[in-house]
Amino acid sequence: MAGREEQHVRVAVIGSGFGGLGAAVRLRRQGITDFVVLERADSVGGTWRDNSYPGCACDVPSHLYSFSFAPNPEWPRNFSGQPHIRAYLERVTDIFGLRPHIRFRSEVRHLRWNGDALHWEIETANGGLTADVVVSATGPLSDPKVPDIPGLDSFPGKVFHSARWDHEYELRGKRVAMIGTGASAIQIVPAIQPEVERLTLFQRTAPWVLPRADRRISAVEKWLHTKVPATRAARRQLLWGIRELQVSAFTKRPDQLGLIEFLAGNHMKKAIKDPALRAALTPDYRIGCKRILLSNTYYPALARPNVDLVTSGLQEVRGNTLIGADGSEVEADAIVFGTGFHVTDMPIAQRVTGAKGTTLAEEWKDGMASLRGASAAGFPNFLTLIGPNTGLGNSSMILMIEAQLNYLADYLRQLDLLGGKTALSARPEAVEDWNRMVQERMKRTVWNTGGCDSWYLDANGRNTTAWPGTTGEFKRLTRQVDLAEYEVLRPKTGTAAGPVGTSADARAEVAA
Ligand code: NAP
Repeated sequence: MAGREEQHVRVAVIGSGFGGLGAAVRLRRQGITDFVVLERADSVGGTWRDNSYPGCACDVPSHLYSFSFAPNPEWPRNFSGQPHIRAYLERVTDIFGLRPHIRFRSEVRHLRWNGDALHWEIETANGGLTADVVVSATGPLSDPKVPDIPGLDSFPGKVFHSARWDHEYELRGKRVAMIGTGASAIQIVPAIQPEVERLTLFQRTAPWVLPRADRRISAVEKWLHTKVPATRAARRQLLWGIRELQVSAFTKRPDQLGLIEFLAGNHMKKAIKDPALRAALTPDYRIGCKRILLSNTYYPALARPNVDLVTSGLQEVRGNTLIGADGSEVEADAIVFGTGFHVTDMPIAQRVTGAKGTTLAEEWKDGMASLRGASAAGFPNFLTLIGPNTGLGNSSMILMIEAQLNYLADYLRQLDLLGGKTALSARPEAVEDWNRMVQERMKRTVWNTGGCDSWYLDANGRNTTAWPGTTGEFKRLTRQVDLAEYEVLRPKTGTAAGPVGTSADARAEVAA
């Protein structure tokens, strides 16, 4: 098909959030211009485009939560808000000349590996194309999760998810039910509490909340960061270093986290004077087991007279009445779900069909697993950014994304060195070895031992999301592709392409 031929690219990147844009910059820096970024929406930004709820901000300091190759001396605050982060990503898109590569309104409907042609066939909402390599940068926070609540369909009021905020809907004077107490909900609660008539918070599990050391970044600091870039770099290094030092408490010695629990408990007690409310807000698991939340305004908002706390999940909806799992009944005009995302069951996995004719979701039915967070067995030349076990509890995901971009860059270099039409397919035993190591280390972490249920764990209770080490270690382990962990695929003369060379063969060819 001539049309198909014209639409072949070397690399197709899915998504234009931090991961997808980072990949695009990296490809260009690598001298690769034959690539597209497929984006389902009509602007860039990923989760920072979709999450525009009141109070939305990042709880990682901006000088760390940004690309090392695109520093921003102008960050307005320690913890910048969503509009600034989204604007930053728009600027990155322009400064690095990425727009010509981006195809908006091109949701990927299906990807299929063609083992004869050694390329991916991609069907999008905006036509088809083929690509040698696919980089999936859809992220873990892209598809909202709304629990299946009996009666919700017949609720006569307004319903929306935190990541799909309806700015047209006037909350003022309404009785609003907020479902969930995760990172999103605790930012929404203080932002909407002053305007709603009644706010009822459905808390299934109490979160640990620490003070948020937020402040405006002064004009002098900004000037210094612009004129003396070393000050900006030093600031980033310091923020990074502090977080690296904290890692061992999360991954090896959760007993050391007692002091942090004490600080969080005091933080709560300062704002909450009612002993019954204090008791209801006190978590019953080790701090860090779920993501630690940062807020100076959450507890004071809960102490306001127009706020009620229901200490159970939402179980049923009957007309305007919301029924908690503890039997409590509340009337509401609007329900806001802060119930998180499809993290361990990434929807893109259902749309990717690999070398065996099975989907990634089928291959991952017992849990996600990839080599070095990037390559799943049976899915040649398909790399995931923020793939399995690359998540962090206490630092910046941008560091992990950049480590994975190093891996992507080396992957493409290796393909070049191998020459001709080639693909790399992660060896199942290499994927197993990597995951055995990860799961072995996971046993000691606070996420597995802290006595909570969290989105780090999948339906089988396996932690397939978090990285049980420092970002520095992950960076070292993903600096280069080890060809011994891959099978090199080349087209067979005749029809079917199959695994014709081992990595040893490939190295011999390179040496020759
Ligand atoms: P989340 O952390 O997954 O929290 C979901 C919440 O919904 C939990 O409190 C959960 O309770 C609750 N829930 C689920 N079903 C419920 C039901 N039927 N009734 C009552 N509660 C229910 O989701 P999120 O807050 O959107 O955050 C997702 C991730 O986004 C975060 O962990 C973080 O990585 C990121 N995020 C980051 C920032 C930032 O500042 N950087 C801000 C927002 C979000 P249980 O705890 O009992 O499961």
